[in-house]
Amino acid sequence: MPASDLQSVAVLGATGSIGTSALDVIARHPGRLRASVLAAGRNVDALLALCRTHRPDHAAIADPDGHAALRDGLAAAGLPTRAHAGMDAITDLAAGNACQTVVAAIVGAAGLDSTLAAARAGKRLLLANKESLVLAGELLVAAARDGGACIVPVDSEHNAIFQCLDGRGSANHAEDVRRIVLTASGGPFRGRSREQLADVTPAQAIAHPKWSMGPKISVDSATLMNKGLEVIEAHHLFDMPGARIDVLVHPQSLVHSLVEFIDGSTLAQLGLPDMRTALAVGFGWPRRMESGVGGLDLLTHGRLEFEAPDTAAFPCLRLAFEALEAGGTAPATLNAANEVAVSSFLQGRIGFLSIPALVEDTLAALPAAPASSLDALREADARARDRATQLATRLTAP
Ligand code: NAD
Ligand code: MG
Repeated sequence: MPASDLQSVAVLGATGSIGTSALDVIARHPGRLRASVLAAGRNVDALLALCRTHRPDHAAIADPDGHAALRDGLAAAGLPTRAHAGMDAITDLAAGNACQTVVAAIVGAAGLDSTLAAARAGKRLLLANKESLVLAGELLVAAARDGGACIVPVDSEHNAIFQCLDGRGSANHAEDVRRIVLTASGGPFRGRSREQLADVTPAQAIAHPKWSMGPKISVDSATLMNKGLEVIEAHHLFDMPGARIDVLVHPQSLVHSLVEFIDGSTLAQLGLPDMRTALAVGFGWPRRMESGVGGLDLLTHGRLEFEAPDTAAFPCLRLAFEALEAGGTAPATLNAANEVAVSSFLQGRIGFLSIPALVEDTLAALPAAPASSLDALREADARARDRATQLATRLTAP
């Protein structure tokens, strides 16, 4: 196969759950896909282990203190891989010639700069980092349009909608679609009342019944903030107002989302809960690629159930809809307050019910302002982090 058919891929967040799934799919297609750039946050040893297996041209660690250990480890392994450190290096690699495709799988707002850079540089962008869309969705979509980037969402719900819409851009489908329905597993605490949530632990919250994911998104799934972030994500990706985005709890996690058209047709995408399907769609689109995921045997799975989300017990979903409605800086504030709250919860410093409380208080304290520029959004993000950190400290104080 000629070298030009080989798609060079930067996997940002390579050591995480999505990164690992992406590398699994890449390794299945040595003639078509190649991991040319691997980037991670702090864990140099885990990144080195991936470099030994995938032999990328470049490896980058976000932690600036990790540079020497990465460089020496690569040299000791006899690899030609070049070592880089710092967020700017990751952003430069995402935009540079070392890759044609970028898997944006860094967790949180930390992924924004590299995702934006890949969009501006016109890459094929497999977008898992939903926080960057929540924080700066309009700018990111505009950057992709102007840069000629093709965004394929690899959040399973949005990937499902992308497939149902046949990959057409929003301009072509807006008039055809009546509404989008995002499915939600309901997380590990589905069916519990608010009172029954007061004492849940981080270990219980990250034990997701259907998906194996990183700790932050697992907690987001338990609070339903994940679905709230996904509503905002869908708004930007598919140009849909919040009023035309519905959420349906579906505990089996086999129907990944649905699109209802104006003629009464509803299309859904179904499959086993394994992110490699969405990633293979991203790498191969408009063709299909083997992903390692088996087919769905509905006979063995039996019933598919659906129920309405309980926003009294899980207010984060309501807060996200409100932030989308308020617009401007509100989604950035919501996202930043949530990142602080989830991290405080995972550290055992605040209780589970304090997550929505902290997000709601931060949104109330910092009303939405117009979000005219990236700087305005970054400022809103920073202010929300300060405010939420103060609130978390107050909650932790004896
Ligand atoms: P994870 O915690 O398993 O992995 C996160 C990755 O990001 C790691 O490689 C880590 O080293 C890296 N990272 C963290 N901070 C960084 C920083 N400051 N700079 C550079 N790299 C940094 O998380 P995950 O579950 O793989 O999720 C990644 C993203 O994908 C999140 O935005 C999440 O919402 C989204 N997503 C995940 C899933 C899933 O099934 N896991 C599904 C849909 C969307
Ligand atoms: Mg999802």
